[in-house]
Amino acid sequence: MPTKRSVELSSAEQQALLKRLIDGELPDAQGRFGPFGGRYAPETLVPALQRLEDGIREHLKDDSFVAELNAELTQWVGRPTALTYARGLSQRWGASVWLKREDLAHTGAHKINNALGQALLAKRLGATRVIAETGAGQHGVATAAACARVGIPCIVYMGEVDVARQAPNVDRMYQLGAEVVPVTSGDRTLRAAIDEAFRDWVSDPEGSYYLLGSAVGPHPYPYLVRELQAIIGREARAQMHQLAGGLPDAVFACVGGGSNAIGLFHPFLGDKDTLLYGVEAGGRGTGLGENSATLATGTPGVLHGSYSILLHNDDGQIQETHSVSAGLDYPGVGPEHSLLQAIGRVSYVSATDAEALEALRECCAFEGILTAIESAHAFVGARRWAKDNPNKRVLIGLSGRGDKDMPTLSKVLPRDVFKNKAA
Ligand SMILES: *Cc1c(COP(=O)(O)O)cnc(C)c1O
Repeated sequence: MPTKRSVELSSAEQQALLKRLIDGELPDAQGRFGPFGGRYAPETLVPALQRLEDGIREHLKDDSFVAELNAELTQWVGRPTALTYARGLSQRWGASVWLKREDLAHTGAHKINNALGQALLAKRLGATRVIAETGAGQHGVATAAACARVGIPCIVYMGEVDVARQAPNVDRMYQLGAEVVPVTSGDRTLRAAIDEAFRDWVSDPEGSYYLLGSAVGPHPYPYLVRELQAIIGREARAQMHQLAGGLPDAVFACVGGGSNAIGLFHPFLGDKDTLLYGVEAGGRGTGLGENSATLATGTPGVLHGSYSILLHNDDGQIQETHSVSAGLDYPGVGPEHSLLQAIGRVSYVSATDAEALEALRECCAFEGILTAIESAHAFVGARRWAKDNPNKRVLIGLSGRGDKDMPTLSKVLPRDVFKNKAA
């Protein structure tokens, strides 16, 4: 059994770290979020990561880059995305429920915010090609679309098992002009694809840009992805003031690697009366390999270049994970979430496969919105909380639309959804 539950911090340390996060001082110069994060990368990758860090410092906050990114976010992605009052759910849950609609962003999820931002950055840095890796294919599709728009060739590594399982997304990537490389080594899924993509990057660190899809990996990726996704929270915070009459009492987002959640949470960190909840995949149950609830059950360690909470055993072997939602099926989590849990600013709970599917049906039937199965996990957490805390304002990050999940849903959901409407 794991020896150390997590990193222990005194309450003075917790408060100091929260203040530094709010003040924009984390990650620090070493890429650390308190005890978490950092850069645990092979020697061969360090120069490329350093070059990326320098490039971010030069361009990310630069007026002309910000103007270009904002114009594309407006015209091409369709931002700002709507904030929707969930009338049916509000009535059922006894709360005022608001949905931040990333499902309405181009390509159907929040992933495009990050893919577009990094593709534009790649161009500024003079890269001639973009490398990405993808598991279920959603990040690959967003990257392929962003690279087509920006005008830079894109190559996506994907395990051959995933290529077979996710054929529609492979076709989408091809249509968008990406080259998809099936990876036949290792486990022939995401892990092998990551290894292969890193190998490619090491062989051409100057001409290639590695476009990472979530708030994970070695510094500076967790920082870069958070900055590009924080637009979700900035918009939502302003929209809550305008439309809901004030800030939410509680905010919920699903957590896989953690990019949509960190983007939604970050602008609310300083609002001390707003509670923040991340919802992980509880899968089929609490047993080993049955879920992907990293923060709920994991312990600290290094995975994919960063020190964070992970699902692994004492020998450092990464555990098998399970979730009905491919996007949450990951044994790690971004280092900023590990810190937010350690300092008590965000609570992490979980929702099982069955609970998520039920919440998805409820949202379909009473809001007319087919959410991604990933996003449905956030609804489960919100509903539970709303029932215990009546008449509060609740904000849910609706990270993406569920059209991609139709093959899964056709298998697991009954066909009498709408007959239950009166229930
Ligand atoms: C990929 C994905 C997620 C999980 O990724 P995060 O980095 O944790 O946000 C959640 N929702 C949707 C719709 C996704 O496509």
